[in-house]
Amino acid sequence: MSRMNKKRPESDNPIQPPDLVQSAIPSSDVQDQQKTPESNNPICLFIPSDATVLDPVHNFPRCHCIKLVEKRENDHIPGRVGQVGLCCFYCDETCLPSKRDTIYENVLSFQQNHLEICPAFPEKMKAKYKRLVQQEYLSSKDNRPSQAFLRAYYAEAAGELGLVDSPYGGLVFGAPQNTSGVLSKRLLSLLKSAGYNGLR
Ligand SMILES: [Zn+2]
Repeated sequence: MSRMNKKRPESDNPIQPPDLVQSAIPSSDVQDQQKTPESNNPICLFIPSDATVLDPVHNFPRCHCIKLVEKRENDHIPGRVGQVGLCCFYCDETCLPSKRDTIYENVLSFQQNHLEICPAFPEKMKAKYKRLVQQEYLSSKDNRPSQAFLRAYYAEAAGELGLVDSPYGGLVFGAPQNTSGVLSKRLLSLLKSAGYNGLR
């Protein structure tokens, strides 16, 4: 089974880029990034609460640069069959988080070590991303979420997408995706403990 090829009706698709990020990207770029070679409807890391919780510089790769890929027989991607990796939208560079708690570090590493040198990352997207990084650098560092919170948030957000830690190591799609439109109790509890109120 592969979720990558599973087409869902538009109205049933909970993964929509937040306005915050969408408005920063010309629609032609968004269309470009949606034309991925292997899937018409890739699953990205984005969940709806990202727009409220995360800075644009964190939102960007979750929406526009990283898709989830499930290893199948005879795939060229690394990992065991069924294992889920984080794959570059543009060049298929893939990394395999060892567990949900490491997704944050994997995404950081992707941002720091891959995006700048990705041979297929469109120049216009790269310019947008660099601008976001610059804005983040210049903005006040007060009120930024802690690394510990971000690590926990990325892990719980992956749970909303149905990702679980495999007993054999790595990630698998092992739970239903939360398509209810209401955040799970675990994620809500994490957000409330960090002072994010009013989310549901
Ligand atoms: Zn790439």
